[in-house]
Amino acid sequence: MQGTSGPIRIGIVGVGKIVRDQHLPALAKDNGFDLIAAASRHGKVDGIPNFSTIEAMLDAVPELEAVSLCMPPQFRYDAARTALEAGKHVFLEKPPGATVSEVEHLKALAAKNGVSLFASWHSRYAPAVEAARAFLASAKLQSAAIIWKEDVRRWHPNQDWIWQPGGFGVFDPGINALSIATHILPPMFIAEARLDFPQNRDAPIAAQVAFRTSTGLPVTMDLDWLQTGPQSWDIVAETDRGQMVLSSGGAKLAIAGKAIQDQPEAEYPMLYGRFAEIVRTGTSDVDLAPLQHVADAFMLGKRNVVEAFED
Ligand code: NAP
Repeated sequence: MQGTSGPIRIGIVGVGKIVRDQHLPALAKDNGFDLIAAASRHGKVDGIPNFSTIEAMLDAVPELEAVSLCMPPQFRYDAARTALEAGKHVFLEKPPGATVSEVEHLKALAAKNGVSLFASWHSRYAPAVEAARAFLASAKLQSAAIIWKEDVRRWHPNQDWIWQPGGFGVFDPGINALSIATHILPPMFIAEARLDFPQNRDAPIAAQVAFRTSTGLPVTMDLDWLQTGPQSWDIVAETDRGQMVLSSGGAKLAIAGKAIQDQPEAEYPMLYGRFAEIVRTGTSDVDLAPLQHVADAFMLGKRNVVEAFED
């Protein structure tokens, strides 16, 4: 499908927390999109036609040009295939799928059907990420540490899918860190990992991952979902030009103790700006590096059973 010159007519699928928190406010302010339908089993969006399945929405609203798929990752592939085969551009919430190979197949389907596929990584659009990338490109890296510790009860209440196979557990936030790390650090590979699974859950609640960069530099990642009080979403890099601290999920940057950047975030408006750009230019943007690292952690990591987790 060719991009049109007016706003892109879009539908949203899987109306839950992230749709209400971010997608609806971002789309409401974006002249590049016209939200004209939604599909969800229970959730509804006011003021537009709502359907219970993506198939019903695509049948009833053929003028749709694009869809945003915001259901949990385990349930995204079938919806994405349906949309791509119907000739619609597709925006995938993060993580883009439950497996690397299914997203590879979606890439091929997008190309075959002449539409755009966007694997969105919202944390890459945090305000200080590009400045951190520019600094690291100008410095000699010595080591890096990713510290991502948050309170699962505060951020993911009543989300059973996150504890199920394919829900990623603590790697659901951890993949946000990896989306930044793979954008600002040199290529790196997992050397060792330990994943802590609560005895009553099928996904990890904590993880310790040791990477090595392609030139052998150490990069550690410490993920923890039981952090109460202040939350930590930080990447710290030691370099020949001093220590770089990218904190608050990529919003703040300090170099050698000096604050360089601290601005309000606009991640979702920027994501939709990027999606509009790839639709208009007839391209796709699907970087699987963060997802591949998570897959590698599950493949290589030692499984450690820890005490049961209750909501
Ligand atoms: P959520 O509210 O639990 O799920 C979104 C919606 O998906 C649900 O309300 C549900 O709507 C639908 N859904 C749930 N299970 C489904 C199933 N088995 N089949 C089809 N649809 C199903 O989760 P969320 O927090 O919005 O997260 C969704 C995605 O966004 C995840 O990949 C997450 O990593 C990502 N994300 C979340 C956040 C955040 O802060 N929460 C931030 C950034 C990205 P219906 O019951 O109406 O079908």
